[in-house]
Amino acid sequence: MSLPAFIAALDLLAADAPARIGAAVDLEAWTEVRNALVGRQSGRLTDIMAGLGALAKEDRREAGQRANSVKVAIEEALAHRHAELAAAAPKSGSSFDLSMPARGRWKGAVHPVSLVIDEVIEIFRELGFTIALGPEAEHAWYNFGALNFPDDHPAMDLHDTLYLGDGQVLRTHTSPVQVRTLQQYPPPVRVLAPGNVYRRDFFDPSHAPMFAQIEGLVVDEGVSFADLKATLSHFARRFFGSTTQTRFRPSYFPFTEPSAEMDVQCGVCSGSGCSVCKQSGWIEILGAGMVHPAVLEAAGLDSERFTGWAFGMGPARTAISRHGIPDIRILYDADVRFLDQFTR
Ligand SMILES: [Zn+2]
Repeated sequence: MSLPAFIAALDLLAADAPARIGAAVDLEAWTEVRNALVGRQSGRLTDIMAGLGALAKEDRREAGQRANSVKVAIEEALAHRHAELAAAAPKSGSSFDLSMPARGRWKGAVHPVSLVIDEVIEIFRELGFTIALGPEAEHAWYNFGALNFPDDHPAMDLHDTLYLGDGQVLRTHTSPVQVRTLQQYPPPVRVLAPGNVYRRDFFDPSHAPMFAQIEGLVVDEGVSFADLKATLSHFARRFFGSTTQTRFRPSYFPFTEPSAEMDVQCGVCSGSGCSVCKQSGWIEILGAGMVHPAVLEAAGLDSERFTGWAFGMGPARTAISRHGIPDIRILYDADVRFLDQFTR
């Protein structure tokens, strides 16, 4: 090999190297480029240097110096690029793993029973109702006596009610709030009383020992059964849809007279009969009636002057029929896979 050919090969390498080094996008590519340019095994500079011995003796010094300056330039460029890539790459031993999938942010959902309660409250708020609350550990008198339960009423039996001793019970319904409210506030009264109630029941597909109830109470002068029907029908249309049919069936509760149960047309089958409505086409939504004069008197009101109506509904039952839930126990299992489905 002649000196000019040796120098031409070096010049070609020196001209080519910066672009190749600059094109290395990460440390792995940088290593490949370094091996290709100046690697001891198969680098291009090593190949060119191998021709040094074939040069004329007087040319070797100059050739060696030229080769060395190209080598220094390439190694400087490699070191510069290496510093750039190392600064951009994640540090080894760092806690960041950029390849890890992103963690989803879990968002809670409102319990289906709470959704029903919130919606019922919203509808009655528009009608001027306010919220009233009472204790869950209640005097037996508020739970039974003041509500006109006769002393031998089966609800007062130990088999049905959880007695706490000292004349107290875990309230079996939200109706005690009626008496407490009337004792506290003079008519006109329009209140909604949501809360938990307790029965001596075991869990089965349609019973739970604790469940939510929503009580409603209206007391004023001149309040009639027509007010009850109009208000509760309005509620049903707001809650279940504007074309919802309702019907009232005579019923009995110690604390209302007359008493009724309100059914709404089954939303699943539109009244033709299905498993949700047990083929009847109707679903019972609430019990209601005119407040018994004895209850008004027990609360200290003149039952000749004031009349009123009240209702009680079970939001769990409503949630069950609304969503076609087959077993009430699912509501209390706290299984997030079930509860997560319900959103406003
Ligand atoms: Zn049906």
